[in-house]
Amino acid sequence: MLRVRKCVQEVEEYRPVVTSDNAKLRLDLNESTTGCSPRLLAKLNSMDARTLALYPDRDAGEKLVAEFLDLDQAQVLLTNGADEGIELLCRAFLEPSDEMIQVLPAFSMYEIFAQASGAKVVSIPADEDYAFPQRAILQAINARTRLIVITNPNNPTGVVTSRADILSVLEAAPHAAVLVDEAYFEFCGQTIMDQIGKIANLFVIRTFSKAYGLAGLRLGILAGAEEHMTHLRKICCPFNVNAFALECLSVALSDQDYVNRYVRRTCATREWLTEQLKQLGFKCWPSYGNFVLSRFGERKLAILAALRARGIELRDRSDCEGCVRLTIGTQQEMEFVLSELKLVLAELPAAQVAR
Ligand code: PMP
Repeated sequence: MLRVRKCVQEVEEYRPVVTSDNAKLRLDLNESTTGCSPRLLAKLNSMDARTLALYPDRDAGEKLVAEFLDLDQAQVLLTNGADEGIELLCRAFLEPSDEMIQVLPAFSMYEIFAQASGAKVVSIPADEDYAFPQRAILQAINARTRLIVITNPNNPTGVVTSRADILSVLEAAPHAAVLVDEAYFEFCGQTIMDQIGKIANLFVIRTFSKAYGLAGLRLGILAGAEEHMTHLRKICCPFNVNAFALECLSVALSDQDYVNRYVRRTCATREWLTEQLKQLGFKCWPSYGNFVLSRFGERKLAILAALRARGIELRDRSDCEGCVRLTIGTQQEMEFVLSELKLVLAELPAAQVAR
């Protein structure tokens, strides 16, 4: 009888979209509710049949991105979302007996792709208040460690890891690929991209899904030292990035004003919402992403269900006790969420709120 590999059988399915039909406001996947710039939309609308008839060519796009990041083209690979960058690293570096280290709570795809490679997943819980567990990571590194993932800022906590801590991990594991996932870089501003090529085991991923409002286009960046990128390029599908995404890339990169404005507004709204949630008695962690993690406590499921009935989808983070992750939409949208939340709370039986 035909059977998939044992390691694949053991993978737990990631089901991101649980959105009910009447969702007015989807704040569960850290998407932009504003969307991409009008210039980019115009570019998309201008595409012709010929562009679609031809296989897409990544080369020009990689040149542009390399210039934008001040890297060599050989250090950059465009990917089908940042997800593909994670998958490529797992496929390239993980043998069945190898170990991948991640920090919990974590974005699900690290574990899924590492498991699919047959590797052992070593999960290190974050320190208090979800701080990066630097000492525990250093202790977990051994001869079998081949991949270490640092999400900066972290999803779902929004917490940042210091440059010094990242550098210490890179130095402690020269035999392992260290992936710094900068999916939310634009909202945080801190990066280790400047060390690409200088530190041989460093890899950085970025995405156009968040600050650029292009999750539907599926466009990401994987950067690393040329000696490794040459191999990653070999195992990457030649036409992994679609023609729409490649055609739009130069407009997306040149429209930094639009991205910066959106990022500034989102961060201001995030701070405002955090303060409001705290005033309602809900603990929040200082976030450097386009989302905030908040502890709703024992009424969490009732609150999520009541908000869903009102058309608002938030993300239940059952891996963080009593917590919910709220994607930051526009100020107006978040004011609506807050007023609906207050109505819901008024209707629920009083319970102790975890602080
Ligand atoms: N890394 C992190 C930390 C993410 O949160 C996400 C998406 N939510 C990704 C990677 C994948 O992004 P993309 O849409 O580019 O595949």
